[in-house]
Formats: sequence, C-alpha cells, structure tokens
Amino acid sequence: MTFHELKVSEPILKAIDAMGFVEPSPIQREAIPYLLQGENVVGQAQTGTGKTAAFGIPMVEKTENQRFTQGLILVPTRELAIQVAGELQKIASHKKGLVILPIYGGQSIERQIRSLSRGVHIVVGTPGRILDHLERRTLHLDHVIFCTLDEADVMLDMGFIDDVRAILSRVPEKAQKALFSATLSPEIKRLVQDFVENPRFITIPHKELTVPNISQFYYEVRESEKPQALTRIIDYYNPNQTVVFVNTKVGVEELKEKLHAAGYEVEALHGDMKQTQREFVMKRFRAQHFDILLATDVAARGLDIENIDLVVNYDLPQDEEYYVHRIGRTARAGREGTAVTFVTLREIKRLKEIERYIKTRIERRRLPTLQDIEKIQTQAILDEIASVIEEGGLEKYIDILTEGLSTYDSVDIAAALLKMVMGEQPEEELSPVEENSPTVRLFLTIGRETVDIRGLLAWISDLTGIRSQELGRITMREGFSFVDVPREKLDDFLSRLDRQKYKGKTVRVEIARERK
Ligand code: ADP
Ligand code: MG
Repeated sequence: MTFHELKVSEPILKAIDAMGFVEPSPIQREAIPYLLQGENVVGQAQTGTGKTAAFGIPMVEKTENQRFTQGLILVPTRELAIQVAGELQKIASHKKGLVILPIYGGQSIERQIRSLSRGVHIVVGTPGRILDHLERRTLHLDHVIFCTLDEADVMLDMGFIDDVRAILSRVPEKAQKALFSATLSPEIKRLVQDFVENPRFITIPHKELTVPNISQFYYEVRESEKPQALTRIIDYYNPNQTVVFVNTKVGVEELKEKLHAAGYEVEALHGDMKQTQREFVMKRFRAQHFDILLATDVAARGLDIENIDLVVNYDLPQDEEYYVHRIGRTARAGREGTAVTFVTLREIKRLKEIERYIKTRIERRRLPTLQDIEKIQTQAILDEIASVIEEGGLEKYIDILTEGLSTYDSVDIAAALLKMVMGEQPEEELSPVEENSPTVRLFLTIGRETVDIRGLLAWISDLTGIRSQELGRITMREGFSFVDVPREKLDDFLSRLDRQKYKGKTVRVEIARERK
C-alpha cells in the first residue's frame, strides 16, 4: 500500500517522500481515505503511530490559499502545538502560500494577533489561548471546514474540557471533524456524541502499537544500584540521545544530581517546571546541546525527537499504557531504537503484565560488565584509527615518531597511546542480582493458626507443581510464613499462588522485604 493509492495529490506525495515516509502507517491507511472523502473520524491509537500525518495530510489537501482560517487543530500542550504545526508545514511544503501557525499560552499575544491578522490557513493551538483569541475576536472560525482534536484524552486530563467544548460550539456545524485519543473514556464519548456527527471509528489494535524497530530489554537491578546501572547502560549502548523516565519529580532531580556528579551532562523535564523552562530544555535537547534527558511521564507526553535512540525506564512505569508511550519516544521516523527497563526483583510480576499488554516479549539481559564496556569503547577507537589511516596524510606524524621514539616497537607505541586514550577505569564491579540470591524469600499471609507445615507444602505443590524438596528454608509464624523459592520458579510461584484461597481465606504472596 502506498500513499499514491490513498489518492494523495502530487505536491503532497512529493513532500512526504522528502520526509522519508515510504508507506502509510495503519492509522494513516484507515483514516486518510475517509477524511479525504469528507467523513468524520474518531481514531484510537497510541503515540508514535503517525496520527499527525493521518489528519495532517487530508487537512492540507483540503486547505486552499484563501484569506480565511480553514483548519483548526486543538492540542494539549505548547510543545505539541509547535511539533504538529512543524509537521504540517513539511506536508504543505510544496503547496505554495499556505500559512500554518502554532498558537499557545506563554507566547506574546500581540505577536500572535499580528500573525493572525496577516491571514493564517491552519491554526494549531492549545485550548486556553485559542479561546482567548476567540473572545478578543482576533481569530474567526466561521470558515473552518476541518477541525481536529489531537490527544483528546490528554486535553481532558489537563482540565481543558470546558474550553474544548466552548471552542467546538463555535466551529461551524457542517465542518468536518476528527478526534484522536489513546483512550475512549465516557467523557470523550460524550464529547464525540455532542460534536462529531456520524463518525467512522478507527481502532488500531495493540499489536501494531509497538514499533517493530524497537529492541526491548530488561535488566534486573537493585534500587540502590540503579544510578550505576544507568551509566553502565549508557556507556555500553553509546547512544546519540537518551531519554530516561523516572516516576517522580523528586526522583528526576535526585538522579540529575547523581549523574552530574558522575560527569554526565543531563537535564531534567518535569511538571513542576514552567512552560518556558520546559520549552528551553526541549529546544536544547532537540539541537543536541546535551544528550541525556531525564523526564517524568507527563512532561514527556508527545515528545517527538528524531535522534532518540535509547529510552530507559529507570523506574518501571506505573501503568502499561505509559510503557507504550515511553518506548514510543525512540525509533521515530522509521529509525531503530532500543528500550531498556530496570526491574527490581519484586517488580518482575508487573513486567510480565506489561509483556502481556503489549503482546511482546521483553528480553532479559545481564548488565554489561566493565570489560564489556571497555571492549566496546576500544573497538570504537580502533574503528576511528582505521578510518584515520584510510584517510592518509600521516607522514608528518610518522616522522615525529621515528625521530622521537626510534627505540620502541611501533605496536608498543600504539598500545601506549590506546591506554592513554582509554584512561583508567577504577569503577567498582556491580554484582549481578541473581548470583547473590539463588533463592528469593517470599512472604505468605497464611500461618500456623490456619495450617501446619505439611498442609502448607501440600497446598503449594497442589497449586504450583513445586515440590517441597525444591523449596528452601520455611519459617512459619501464627499469622504468616516465609518460604525460600528458587529464583527460576519465582514467576510460577507468584502467579499461581498469590490471591488463591486456602479454606476460604485469600492468601497474598509477595517478595519479602530485605532485612537491612
Ligand atoms: P503520533 O501522533 O501517533 O504519536 P506522530 O504523528 O508524532 O505519531 O508520528 C511519529 C513519528 O513517525 C514521527 O517522527 C513521524 O514523522 C513518523 N511517521 C509518521 N508517519 C510515518 C510513515 N508513514 N512512515 C515513516 N515515518 C512516519
Ligand atoms: Mg501525536
């Protein structure tokens, strides 16, 4: 399937070709024909599935170089306004004279008013500021023929529902409407019912959500070892640009301190920062002024940067959906990317839930050792040396060496240089989690008052198939017990036993807290 077959016109085909799009993504394949035919569309698809072009291409097709605003796109954040406007400008690059303007709070309103008065064909804006312009009568929607709500769920999450409704009620009723959202909550359904007549519903199933170009791995780490594990991963993968997801703002700030202390250049992005601050950080990241961005989920929503080749889930996301959003930050525009997740022992079960949700296996890897990293770094230097030799022009240096160090063998000299370039690596070796603990201690909310040890063992073996010989130390108290389980049986044990009933009482099983 090609864009040509979707009946996209020549100038736009040329533009999307230049953007590197070879074939339409699933949501584009489904939405573009309907939208070109003038139908309303409600699309449910996760981040990274190409929604912008799905509505952007038809919108640019339908917009003509007249004096009125014909297209309106509502987005939740200023970053998205800029991003979506940028993508539409690219799509429209071979359509002369189309003006597409992002409009958002925080930017000088006078400047926006001037731009609007010169004539804008498509406005991409955040609800608050759009409403502001409507009230000042500096923006008119009477000639709008196409209106899109992008990331509708986020807009509602951010409390824009009233603004969105106020704006939609001023869009001509006969205008074509499109709404995109990751979820179709009851509130969104009501919005659709009230404003989107007779829509075509498009859902892109989860299987197509995760981009095939993302390699996904997980690493078992202790909480306390995470900072070191992170620097290890970054040194090993040697990415262009990395986004590290941390669950809390405080966590982001703490990690930032630690990484600074370790000599890494990083910056943070979280919800406590002002819009202007956030935008400044984003701009610098996009321009590659620094290469590691630490972010919380909310702050990184919709972030689209082409060069991100590594995403690290420093903390396991609180929700499966977040996992999909996070890893979607890499492998943009058909590139390749890697997503790495840190998992502590007691989180393995939740990782399995994520695997089930995304219908993909996340492969387990061992943390690279210092030797692994050294090997990779040496190889990089050797590659560079080889290319310098290929380039030639070494005569001057050969002369210097033959004069200055004539008594030494050339391989020795090269080895000495390599040692100098590599520098010393005095870092301590991390001990892999599993070697320290062949068994995992579990806590069960069942004790001697309900069952004796033989009854407990029989019940365990009944439900899990694990026999008593395979279990380690067992400690029973009145109301609870501890059982040591071999690591490799941990998943089975937890999934088959936790929340099962013994004589009518639900038994909880969890990994016992380490005693410090
Ligand atoms: P979404 O809005 O669904 O999160 P975007 O529209 O931001 O996704 O697209 C994600 C990335 O994929 C962007 O970098 C975009 O340029 C790229 N992209 C979109 N459609 C295609 C396509 N058909 N082929 C290749 N890359 C695409
Ligand atoms: Mg989008």
